[in-house]
Amino acid sequence: MNKTFTNKKPFTRGYHREYTPPAEAQKKILPFKEKVTLHIPEIKNGIRIIPLGGVEGIGANMTAFETERDIFIVDAGFSFKDESAPGVDYILPNTKYLEERKHKIRAVLITHGHLDHIGALPYVMPGLGNPPLYTRLLTAVMIKKRQEEFPHLDALDIRVVEKNQTIEIGEMKVRFFSVTHTIPDAMGIIFETPYGNIVHTGDLKLEHEDGKASETEIKEYAIFKDMNVLCMLSDSTNTERPGFSIPEHRVIDNIGNIIRNTKGRIILGAFSSQLERLVKVIEIAATLGKKVVVEGRSMKGHIEIVEHLGMLKVPRGTLITGDEMGNHPADRIVVLATGAQGDEFGALMRAGNKTHRTLKIVKGDTIVLSSSIIPGNERSVQKLKDNLSKQGAKIIHYQVSDVHSSGHANGDEMRWIHDQINPRFFIPIHGYHYMLTAHGNIALARGLAKENVIVPDNGMIIDLIEGGTKAYIQPERAPSAKVMVDGSSMSDVQDMVIKDRRMLSEDGMFVFVVVVDSQTGTLKKSPDIISRGFVYLKESQDLLRTARTIIKKCVEDITTNQPLHTIDGDQLKHAVAETMSRFLMQKTAKHPVVIPVILAV
Ligand SMILES: [Zn+2]
Repeated sequence: MNKTFTNKKPFTRGYHREYTPPAEAQKKILPFKEKVTLHIPEIKNGIRIIPLGGVEGIGANMTAFETERDIFIVDAGFSFKDESAPGVDYILPNTKYLEERKHKIRAVLITHGHLDHIGALPYVMPGLGNPPLYTRLLTAVMIKKRQEEFPHLDALDIRVVEKNQTIEIGEMKVRFFSVTHTIPDAMGIIFETPYGNIVHTGDLKLEHEDGKASETEIKEYAIFKDMNVLCMLSDSTNTERPGFSIPEHRVIDNIGNIIRNTKGRIILGAFSSQLERLVKVIEIAATLGKKVVVEGRSMKGHIEIVEHLGMLKVPRGTLITGDEMGNHPADRIVVLATGAQGDEFGALMRAGNKTHRTLKIVKGDTIVLSSSIIPGNERSVQKLKDNLSKQGAKIIHYQVSDVHSSGHANGDEMRWIHDQINPRFFIPIHGYHYMLTAHGNIALARGLAKENVIVPDNGMIIDLIEGGTKAYIQPERAPSAKVMVDGSSMSDVQDMVIKDRRMLSEDGMFVFVVVVDSQTGTLKKSPDIISRGFVYLKESQDLLRTARTIIKKCVEDITTNQPLHTIDGDQLKHAVAETMSRFLMQKTAKHPVVIPVILAV
């Protein structure tokens, strides 16, 4: 028979959660709740620039530009989960500042179609009042396609622009220019303000030969000659690396030679975001009379889009399905596959694990891993290479041959871009603080004054005031706490859930079940203990014995000294859990999630 301890809070069967982590654990949590920004004065006689995401890490790029009348937003990306938030799907820029000034927003401008620039759109556009969205064609189609996954949202008002076009949005003249990146239709944006132009380059690198910019690049950047550029904001991802990055044409030449000279089947593992390279590889394969199979959902999606837009020029029948592969000799086949990072569900990884339906690795296959290894993925890539080579494949990767290059400029390459744009103020964006600092140093080396180079944090309000002659950093920040997307829910709180996940992933969980005799208040039997991911129970018998004794004493101290119906069940569980948590911390230096279950029978 179950008894209730009080009639207010019934004591139910089952697993009750009742645990408050110690203050030390709470401190690790990011400050999700922020004060409302009431004291930020409006911008007058100048331009306000606020990086809202993408400057304290990689991804979640978003920058706001504000004048007295208008707000323009550049990019709305997400970043993928990191260790600080286990189980979270994406992290978004914080748009609270913008939402409070929704009436001023005139446009969202998107530099290119990578997810760290478009990924947040479905989540943030409704809150921004669904303003018109300006971007180039491929990006527009990619955004539209992605929006189909969110059928409950209002349609976006997307307006396609082209490079070298100048348009008027409200009172602002906005001009676009083409930049080299890893996806077609990447662009930079120029805001023509009365104080001078503001240039946002987006992500970019250069086409060059041994450090000499190509003719095309020289022509593209010629627009900046004699232009009065007040401020430039630019990609910092690789600027700490010296020299120039490997030009993409060399990567393409190398892959082309491999395809030309290899007997047997070629399987190329790459990021689906390297869309320009994928297109070129398909075109090369086609000129060599080979068939191309695309494996992996994201890659298939992207190739379908470029094919549809006429950006992929190959004879009909070049692209075949995995099922049709068997109809052609192996040396007539090139496979493009996702999973070069060792990601669990990538096509290449499944082939390595022999779980892919159509892609079976055989002796004689040559696998080109046309991607670098993202830090943290080293072990899974190692495993991938092992699995593939055990099945007889030959593996070529970026450490043995130039089969990959990043889409972000190195230091000297970026210096060239600075020299062309020649800004008065410079704000490095896209990267961790140390990357931004390295990029800032490039501007300083060019002779910019220290006070004209601003290395920002997320939410920093940078006002170019007095007609754009001076930079002033507001003491108040725009809200910048990380916004998490977790499954379908989105919030900047979620802290309890994430805290639990973090503790579970780091120190596991510790459950104890106590059965109290409702007549006597004593324990009917020794507490049961279940733990996962905490300690190896078999080797921790002493610890468990002491834990049982403490639990028993702690419960009975309360339950035998007063009538059961007067005891608050939640408080009882809370007290015992806290004691146990402290004990486990002392003994093991671990903070498992402690779950007390106390039943009265
Ligand atoms: Zn990019």
